[in-house]
Amino acid sequence: MEQFDAIIIGAGPAGMMAAIRAAERNRKILLIEGNDSMGRKLLISGKGRCNLTNSCDIENFLEKFSRSRAFLRNIFAKFFNDDLMSFFEDAGLKLKVERGGRVFPQNDRSVDILNVLKTKLKNKNIKVLYGVRVREIIAKDKKIEGILTYSGGHFLGGHIVVATGGLSYPKTGSRGDGYKIAAKFGHEIIPLKPALSPILIKEKFIRDWQGISLKNVRLALFTGSKKIDERFGEMLFTHFGLSGPAILDISASVYDALELKNEATISINFKPALDYEKLNARLLREFTANSKKSIKNIFKNLLPQGIIQRFLEYCSVNGNKTASQITTEERKKLINGLFDLRLTVGGVVSIEDGIVTRGGVNTKEVNPKTMESKLIEGLFFAGEVIDIDAKTGGYNMQAAFSTGWVCGDNI
Ligand SMILES: Cc1cc2nc3c(=O)[nH]c(=O)nc-3n(C[C@H](O)[C@H](O)[C@H](O)COP(=O)(O)OP(=O)(O)OC[C@H]3O[C@@H](n4cnc5c(N)ncnc54)[C@H](O)[C@@H]3O)c2cc1C
Repeated sequence: MEQFDAIIIGAGPAGMMAAIRAAERNRKILLIEGNDSMGRKLLISGKGRCNLTNSCDIENFLEKFSRSRAFLRNIFAKFFNDDLMSFFEDAGLKLKVERGGRVFPQNDRSVDILNVLKTKLKNKNIKVLYGVRVREIIAKDKKIEGILTYSGGHFLGGHIVVATGGLSYPKTGSRGDGYKIAAKFGHEIIPLKPALSPILIKEKFIRDWQGISLKNVRLALFTGSKKIDERFGEMLFTHFGLSGPAILDISASVYDALELKNEATISINFKPALDYEKLNARLLREFTANSKKSIKNIFKNLLPQGIIQRFLEYCSVNGNKTASQITTEERKKLINGLFDLRLTVGGVVSIEDGIVTRGGVNTKEVNPKTMESKLIEGLFFAGEVIDIDAKTGGYNMQAAFSTGWVCGDNI
């Protein structure tokens, strides 16, 4: 039976990078992928554009991770955003940096990222098996020997990298297999939760706002009167609730709040740059200059058109009233609505529909200098299967590539 130096399970960003780095070191590698093609999740990432990393400095970068920052510092010290960008640029792929430091391929095509990886795998003669799902890892006396597949295949290798991804978007191949494999070897799996998930909202009127996106809003999460978390940025109304970067980033706190208190509300501040006096002055100015105009017309200067009708109903203000008919009390209601439109959270979408999985292999049981298990010699972990998750902005993909690279440097 053919013996490999290392077998890598999963051809996502983490597994592919591990294979490439190990092959650069002349290791004989077998990369096994359950799907009939590699990098399925990578292809749909960033809405098909793949936000592969973020150009910010290390301190700002680490801040975006929910935990495990000390663990990641070791890993990023070896392979960080500049290394990843050079990896692709040296292969002839042009990249661009967008707002917030988000890095994309210049032509907005994630397939070009995948093609660079595929070419490197091919040029380095890495053996890739498609459509083969690994069932278990074989070990004797706490030492790795090889793997068994669901179809009865048996492959030998003294180093195994588990790069099977998380639990989100299982149709891309990440069905949580790695958690079972790790648990079998005694690894603690930190409870799995959806992170970066759209949020379900109970109020039905927001369905009329479906498809409308807002920039520069402030979101606040409350349980009762207690503010739990806050975010600033972009959001989107969907047919079931809220999505978009700021919502995804606050969603893990929403999940925790619901688990703890079973209720939560989200407040949208449409005008976070203004305080009460300034907004009041702005409304007074608008109302005086347009005294004969209906309030629903005047609000076109303040909110997206599609929101206005329902917003005015929420504030209990008749949109057909002219500005001169608006009472002081009604103006106060409008200001309160603009600063604090309160929505009741019905839940977060399931873990399968979240963008990333929070939880996974406990980082305390993995050596960040090598990515090797501290429990079993020869067992390595890379990517989302580990308890690592970050906000939106390219951080998750970089973590997958970096942990993969460190694995490849040590197998
Ligand atoms: C819709 C969406 C958009 C995203 N956009 C971005 C973005 O723009 N930027 C960003 O930073 N992050 C983004 N992410 C997150 C990012 O894609 C993941 O964090 C990253 O892909 C994780 O890489 P990975 O290699 O660990 O796992 P995956 O990419 O999930 O790859 C795991 C691979 O392992 C294979 N596998 C699993 N089990 C087995 C088995 N038993 N045997 C053989 N093979 C197996 C799977 O088929 C899969 O190919 C997005 C996620 C989603 C769902």
